[in-house]
Amino acid sequence: MARYTDSSCRLCRREGLKLFLKGDRCYSEKCSFERRGYAPGDHGQSHKKQVSDYGTQLREKQKLKRMYGLLEKQFHGYFEKADRQKGITGTNLLVLLERRFDNMVFRLGFANSRIEARQLISHNHFLINGKAVNIPSYLLKAGDEITIKEGSRKMNRVLEAMETVARRGVPHWLDLDKDNFKATIKMLPVREDLTMPVQEQLVVELYSK
Ligand code: SF4
Repeated sequence: MARYTDSSCRLCRREGLKLFLKGDRCYSEKCSFERRGYAPGDHGQSHKKQVSDYGTQLREKQKLKRMYGLLEKQFHGYFEKADRQKGITGTNLLVLLERRFDNMVFRLGFANSRIEARQLISHNHFLINGKAVNIPSYLLKAGDEITIKEGSRKMNRVLEAMETVARRGVPHWLDLDKDNFKATIKMLPVREDLTMPVQEQLVVELYSK
């Protein structure tokens, strides 16, 4: 599968915010953005140049795309799907991204990052509604149940992630049953539930040109 090869921390510095791509490290003093919160490269600390409307829209798209770890083609596919749905395209886009299996596994604290969630899913550690699913892009809906397979419940990566999820919290629209290694999607989020600092309308404007 194609993926970014650029250092994850450089992406945070490029976008000017923490994208939480490296799990536990993101919450520690080792976080590169905490230590060097300016853009990477020789001119990263120099005076900021004026950015055009197009540039601002582009950065917002890159930020969202990188947050969910997607490549351009995949991300654009979500935009097209969101545009075909009823309602506000930008909100539809965010909800579609949130519905991804890897995102849900991360949100629930079964993995420390979306990247780690993707690896665990690909290695077949989860069930959805009792059936094995190893597709990170699988879109979940309200009422679906995610379970960690019995044989995977002692994995250190999973146990550590479940220990540390309290730092970011599990969203109210997910119902986590930690003792039984399972969770239910109570409902899909609405815009107000999604508190990450993104202006999705700028992404819509960019793709609508
Ligand atoms: Fe971003 Fe995490 Fe790296 Fe910090 S540690 S710069 S939040 S990926």
